Amino acid sequence: MKIKLDLHPIYNDSREIEASLLKGIEDAVTKRATELEIIPGKGSGALKKTVVRFLERPEIRAQYHRIEKDGDNWGRLFVHFRWARLQEKKHEPIPEERIDYKCFCCDAAVSTRVDREALDEGPTEVRIEECPSCGSPNKLTFQLKKRGDVSVRAVSGYEE
Ligand SMILES: [Zn+2]
Repeated sequence: MKIKLDLHPIYNDSREIEASLLKGIEDAVTKRATELEIIPGKGSGALKKTVVRFLERPEIRAQYHRIEKDGDNWGRLFVHFRWARLQEKKHEPIPEERIDYKCFCCDAAVSTRVDREALDEGPTEVRIEECPSCGSPNKLTFQLKKRGDVSVRAVSGYEE
């Protein structure tokens, strides 16, 4: 969806321009528009500058993806928004957190999964894993540190 904002009729009313620009951005955000086209009007370099300065304000800048300036002398500005991208991101799986330990038996470096949920319930989690290199059972003790880091220690997992 695209929204057009024509500033021609109000080009000499700076308060109206400000209000229109604010409303344009607000509309684009509420309607999840992909593009807001702003038409300052032919030969209105000063108005175009006002629009660009408006769009560069940090609180406005935070709401759109990028500005595209029209090459012709109509001086149109296209403000692009990126909603689809944000939605995609939401559905991306959270990357697995992994940590390396050294096998107690063969010294191989083994990467293993960190179970944050288990660590949230207590400061340590113990689990037994077979080393992919030598097949020995490693008894792993994961420990949640003060700063949220996780450490892991591997000892023999053979029953004594
Ligand atoms: Zn091993």
